[in-house]
Parts: sequence; structure tokens; C-alpha cells
Amino acid sequence: MPFVYDFDHKHRKPPMEMKDLLGGKGANLAEMTSVLALPVPPGFTISTDACRAYMDGGWPDGLSAEIAKARTRLEKTMGKRIGDPSDPLLVSVRSGAKFSMPGMMDTVLNLGLNDQSVEGLAKQTDDERFAYDSYRRFVAMYGRIVLGIPGEEFDLLLDAAKELAGTTSDAAVPTELLRYLVDAYQQIVERHTGKPFPQDPDDQLRGAVEAVFESWNGPRAIAYRDRERIAHDLGTAVNVQAMVFGNRDDDSGTGVGFTRDPATGTRGEYGDFLVNAQGEDVVAGIRNTEPLSALKDHFPKIHKELLAIFARLEGHYRDMCDTEFTIEQGKLWMLQTRVGKRTGAAALRMAVDMVAEKGIKLSKEEAIERITGDHLDQVLHPQFAGSGYKVLTKGLGASPGAAVGRVYLTADGAQAAAEAGETVVLVRSETSPEDVHGMLAAEGILTARGGLVSHAAVVARGWGKPAVVGAEGLRIVGNTFTVGDTVVEEGDWISIDGTNGTVVLGQVPVSQGETPAEFDTVLAWADVIRAGHLGVRANADNGPDAANARHLGAEGIGLCRTEHMFLGEDRLPIVRRMILADTPSEEQAALEQLRLAQKADFEEILEAMDALPVTIRLLDPPLHEFLPSTEELAIKEATDGLNPEETRLFQAAKDWHEFNPMLGTRGVRLGVLKPGLYAMQVRALMEAALARVAKGGHPIVEIMIPLTIGREEMALARSWVEEAVTSTLAGSTGSGSGSSGRGKKSPAPAAGSLEVLIGTMIETPRAALRAAEIAEDAEFFSFGTNDLTQMTFGFSRDDVEGRMMSAYLELGLLKRNPFEVVDPDGVGELVRLGVERGRSTRPDLKIGVCGEHGGDPESIQTFAKAGLDYVSCSPFRVPIARLAAAQAVLAGHTAARTADRKSASAGVAAKGRTKAKGKG
Ligand code: PEP
Ligand code: MG
Repeated sequence: MPFVYDFDHKHRKPPMEMKDLLGGKGANLAEMTSVLALPVPPGFTISTDACRAYMDGGWPDGLSAEIAKARTRLEKTMGKRIGDPSDPLLVSVRSGAKFSMPGMMDTVLNLGLNDQSVEGLAKQTDDERFAYDSYRRFVAMYGRIVLGIPGEEFDLLLDAAKELAGTTSDAAVPTELLRYLVDAYQQIVERHTGKPFPQDPDDQLRGAVEAVFESWNGPRAIAYRDRERIAHDLGTAVNVQAMVFGNRDDDSGTGVGFTRDPATGTRGEYGDFLVNAQGEDVVAGIRNTEPLSALKDHFPKIHKELLAIFARLEGHYRDMCDTEFTIEQGKLWMLQTRVGKRTGAAALRMAVDMVAEKGIKLSKEEAIERITGDHLDQVLHPQFAGSGYKVLTKGLGASPGAAVGRVYLTADGAQAAAEAGETVVLVRSETSPEDVHGMLAAEGILTARGGLVSHAAVVARGWGKPAVVGAEGLRIVGNTFTVGDTVVEEGDWISIDGTNGTVVLGQVPVSQGETPAEFDTVLAWADVIRAGHLGVRANADNGPDAANARHLGAEGIGLCRTEHMFLGEDRLPIVRRMILADTPSEEQAALEQLRLAQKADFEEILEAMDALPVTIRLLDPPLHEFLPSTEELAIKEATDGLNPEETRLFQAAKDWHEFNPMLGTRGVRLGVLKPGLYAMQVRALMEAALARVAKGGHPIVEIMIPLTIGREEMALARSWVEEAVTSTLAGSTGSGSGSSGRGKKSPAPAAGSLEVLIGTMIETPRAALRAAEIAEDAEFFSFGTNDLTQMTFGFSRDDVEGRMMSAYLELGLLKRNPFEVVDPDGVGELVRLGVERGRSTRPDLKIGVCGEHGGDPESIQTFAKAGLDYVSCSPFRVPIARLAAAQAVLAGHTAARTADRKSASAGVAAKGRTKAKGKG
């Protein structure tokens, strides 16, 4: 395979499909040249193969010869030679990786100038100033990029020259001073490298190409790829292209143009240009640009030509394109094009518009594939408007959206301030159920510790409230917090962006999240595509959240964390009383109070989700979340002293203290230690369901046991649940319409009927491994990938992200934070095993996921491939999950599942579902 391809090389397939080899820029330059025959300055692309070979073993054999040949061909086409002392050809050398990495890699312009050819350029153009200005730009750029000399050294001299000339504009520096600058720049080069500035164009070219190769592994580029999840081994291509100049005269210019507005998606050209300027002047913002529409006044013919090109580009790429163009002495040149980046609102609008447009005729499937979860996030949540704000510190973006408010460091303080009409950001080291009232009152939440599945993150996401967690640089000291030397007092303004984890001191302007009409259109298309393949439910713990989730398109509840029902200030003491009870009667009294509270909550949820499945998870609190902090009480004991209630709580908290509460008495283990707890919850639930039936509702209840590890435990828990279901139903009178019997296909839900399933979460690796036997007593599984990730990796979900995750990601020990994107290999393997083994016992086993990964588009692909029936996520992620589920179907990830299940359902015995006759 050759390393070098001319832009007009006849490839076997359309070059725009060859980005792997040619890079994005090279592929599009070749497409514009060879397929579209647009006016593109000629040139050639050195492939990514060459870059990879260079990274493996240095400058590849044969590359120099190929470049020399391509150079000769280019010189022939142009009728000029690089470095020719009388009429030199100048070239640009630009990087161009498969995925655009704006500003991350290097470019050298005006290559080919030297002490002789600059004179030739001056003569040919009859413009000495232009020639020397080009030369001084080249020496500085080459010095900085290829030779690694700090750019400030050149900038300082340019500033001095401007001062001497009494001007602030580069363009007004006279020729004499430019000549002097070239000389002085060359001296800088010699001082740094011990060698004169390279005069031989071959040396210049080789140096520039090597510098572009090297820039692939520059720290900026690596950091960018980490953030954008671009593989580090792709390498970049290098494009060598004849230079055209927009800074020749007033008949020249340069600009960037979009074929439609990338901010709103509105049809019609959009962009900026400058008369008599080079491309970098537009980007650098040194001069005020004019809108593209004004091109009509300056260059009417070129404006028309450009619009015709835009129309061709859109027709050809079937998408919005962005372009860079240059006008050189009245002739238009296209320097670059690519499918343009866009905002969420624009992406939605363009996708919907282009389905209707005859010239483009996008299919709905293609439209769906063009929208990303980030696009939807942008229209669902407020965002920081504009840029240029100073970042105080960064944490993990745990719940998207921007929030601006005054800092409060305690939940009580936040609540009081909010009640007094202030907007508040609650800042805590970490949060616990005790902080929930403050979290509710706040616009946004910022914590110094904790990861993406910490309490703060999970709760905030559930409410759609912006949150940044694990901002390690932040220390709370009394009524202030510090980040380095900056001290922030309670009452000061801060702004947080929960999309990317940014924290800014002061008030950053925020643009409101507004869902445009196209949002619903696109999601309706997505629903059609995924229907029958992959369902989307929500994690919701109360009526309003459930109603909101349904409004956002949830097809049921995949996880109701019943412990969240006890977070309110009025309810927490009851849970504590139940946990800490010394005698059975004390415990019974607390349980009774809980039952009443839960019944009302359940009824609200079942009403909001009428005729849709609602998975109620029985209590799963890591106990420490519900107990007062022993540290705080110890301090209080030593200072103000404790009242009798506090003394009792303190003692009990010490008794229940566990070193690893997340691996301690939680989940079904709590049920084992507190007999009666789960029965109470089931009774409350069944009473609520019956009340719904009595009102003509159709509750579909799925009772879920958390954190199981095996058959015996599941069977025991099931027996409590069945007993409570049966006794509650038996205790009620009257009758609903009921539902079908065991094993029959469910008819469409009838009003006034009740269905009950009993199942379990699969959250421990053992449960996944022993899924076949657990399925004997479970009618459904729901993978709790938060805990499953914690236990598979042995990574504490509350600690590991703050302390070591960034180091692991930087060192490449992990490709992704596994709490953000499910680990497809390890955790994914357990999910696949669990599905396969569970369905080997019970072919119709219903399987979902309700860990936070259920709302992550990439993880959804993994779950779809594993054969899950649905994903469940926080209400505000539901639209994103609907889209990602449709994308999984389009990618073919769900086809195998349907086929598998058909063949698997042949005659394997399984326990039937508990179908209850509703009695109201
Ligand atoms: C899980 O572990 O994935 C889960 C959903 O449960 P929780 O986050 O409440 O432990
Ligand atoms: Mg869990």
C-alpha cells in the first residue's frame, strides 16, 4: 500500500468513506477534488498508515521517495516549484486525523520560503511586504511547531516591531521591519537549535511532516482523545496543499461558511469572512469579521458560486457541512469541508427538516442515527451560555445541566435560604439522606467527595437537578470552602455545570433548556424503531417523579428505591426507630408507621403508572445512610452534650457500625435480620394496589428482592413476599376483573385488574453466576450494575472515583470510568452469563437493568446485545435511553435476542408467575 495519495487519486471507493486511511480532512479534500470537481488547491495526503508506521519504528522506508514524487507531480500541476528562487510554490502542511480534533494538532503554512524564494515571491506578486510578511509568519510557525521554540519569543519581537511602528495592527508593520523580523527570528532559531533556519525545502517538508506525526502524541491531543473517547492508535494523516492567499489585496479574502446555521439548524448559509486576510485571522478574532451574507456586497459573483457549492455539498453529503474558503485575487478556492458540528437544537431541527427535503431525503433511521444523547441533554437542561469563564475547579459531571446560586454548606442553611427566596447551590463534602431537604431546596449540588453512583449523584439525577460530585480540589472549612488559595464564603455566588463537572466562581449566564418540537418527532420515530425490541423504564420513587417519567416516555418503572420514600425529615426517624428497635413490639410499631406512609406513596406511583409495570424494590439501605453520623455525634457529645434521644441513637449507631456498610447489612440481608420488614412493605404495596383496583385502575406490580446471592436466600425472600401477597388479598373483600392464569399469554390489561410478579436484582457476581437456580424462584431479573460494578471490580462506588479513577484513566489502566459506561468485558460478561443462565431455567424470564448505566447510550448497546428486555434510568435520561435503544436496534444489536428467545422457549419447566385476582 502506498503511503501518499494525490487529492485526485482514483480510489476504489468514494474517498469520503476512507477517513481511516486519509483522515477526515484528506478524505474530504479528495472527495471535493475527484468526485465533486470543486475548486480545491491541489495537493496530496500522507496516510495514517505512514503515521502509524512512524510511531512504531520511526520514519518509514520509502516515504521520502513517495513524498518527493508527489511533490514533483504537484509542482507540475501548479507550474511552479517549491523553493524556486524566482517563482516559488508555497504549501501548507496540515494534520488531519480520522476524527476532527480542533486546535489539538499542528499546521505549518507558507512552507517553501527561504532567503532566496522570498525575493522571488516579492517579484512575482509585486508585493514585497506580502512576501516578507509570509516569510516571517513561516519562520515563527516553523520555529514553534517543528523546532519546539516557545512562541512567546517570536511574539515579543512582533510586539516590539509594532510598538516601533506606532501601530497595534500586524497588517501595518512596514516591510523594513518585517525584513528585520525575519532576520531576528532566524537568530532565535539558531540560538535554540545551534543550526541555521533550514533553507532546503526538502528539509522543511520532512521536518513539518514529522512534527505533525509527533503532534498526535502531544499532551493536548492525548487529553482531547481521552475526553472524546478517540482511540490513541489511529494516528493522523498529513495534508500537503498548494497555498492560496486571501491576504494578497482587497480582491482577496477568507472565511468559514456553514451550509445552514449550526446553532439553530435554520436553512440558509451562515458564517464569517474577512476581506484581505488569512484564515488564521478569522479564527484568531483579531479583526471583526463580516457575516457571510455580506459577501454578496463585496464579491457578488463569488457569493453566488459559493452558494451553489454549498447546495452541492449538502446534496452530496446529505448533511450540513462546514467549509473554509479563500478568495485569491477574485478566484474562489475551497480549502476544507466536513460534516459540521452542531448544537442539540440544530441537530434535531436539521434531522427532521432533512427527512422532508427532496434534495436530501434522509430516512427516519438515518435521522435517528444523527442525534446523540448529548444533543438531547442540551435541549433538556439549562447550559452555560457562551464561553470564556474562569474555571474554579472540576469534579465529575454527575447530573447534567447548569445551576447558578449562592453557596450554602449545610442542608438546613440551604433550605432556610431557599425559603427566604434565594437561589442556592448546596455544597457538601458528600451527602446522605439527612441532607435531602437541602438538596431539594437547592438549584444544584456540589460535593467534594463521591462518584457517579454516590448518594448525591443518584438523587440529583433522579430529580434532574444539576450536580457536580467528587470535586477533589475543594475543602470545606467552617463557613467557607477553599480551592487552592481561593476562599468562597457562604452566600457567595457560584455556577456549576453538571454536564462536564465545571465549577465557576460567580454567576455564569445560563441558556434555558427548551425542547423544540422536533424533539418529540425524533423520539416518536425512535419508539417505532425499538418497539418490541428494547423497552425503556424509569427509576422513580414517588408519584410526581413517576408522572414526569411517563410524560418523558417511560414505559413503566424499573426501580422504585423504597428507601428513598423515607428520606423526608418526617420519615427518617421512623426508619431509625425500626432499625434500632430493641424489642419486637417497638419494631412492630415502627413498621406499622412505615406501612401507612408507604401505602400512600405506592398508590400515587401506581396511579401515575397505571397499566404499566412498576418494579418496587424492597428496602435496600446500606444502614449507614440512615443512621446519624457517629463522628458528628461524638463531637456534639464532647462539646454541647447529647440529649437522651441522641444518646440512644449514638449508642445504637455505634452498635450497628460496620466497616464496609455497602457490603454489610443491606438488601435482602436486612430482611433476614429484620423479619417482618419485607412483609410490611409488601402489605403496604398490595393494599395500595387493591385500592387502585377498587378505583378501576390496573396496577401491574413487580416485587423485587435486592442484593441476592443464591437460591436459598431467594426462595426464603419469595416465601415472605408470597405469604404477604396472599394474606393481603385474602383479607380484602369484593373482586376486580382479575387477570389471566399461569402460563397463558397476557391479554391487554383490563381496568380493575391486578398482576403481580416476584423477581430479584442481580447485583452480586454470585447471583449472576448462579442465575439458573435463582430463576427458579424469580419471574424477572433486573441487573443492578452499580453494585455489580462495585463488586466485580472490588471498587468502592463511594470512594474510588474521587481518589484513583483519574489516575487509572490517565495511565490507560481503564479505558472508561466503569461507573459511567458499563464495562463490556467483565461486568458485561456477567450480565451475558446471567441472562443466558436465567433463561435456561425460565425462557420467558423478563430481564432489565436499573443501574445508572441504564441511561448511558454506550452501555445501552451492551445491554441490547446481551438480550435485555428493557433498560431503566432516571426520568430525565428516559428520552436519551429511547434514542439509544432505537440506535441499538438499528445497529442490529437486538435481532439475535428475539431469535434466541424463540428457540430457548421450547419446553423448559419453570415456576409460573403469581397472578393474583384483584379484590377491591
Ligand atoms: C444498583 O446497584 O445498580 C442499583 C440500581 O441499586 P442501588 O444503586 O440503589 O444500590
Ligand atoms: Mg444496588
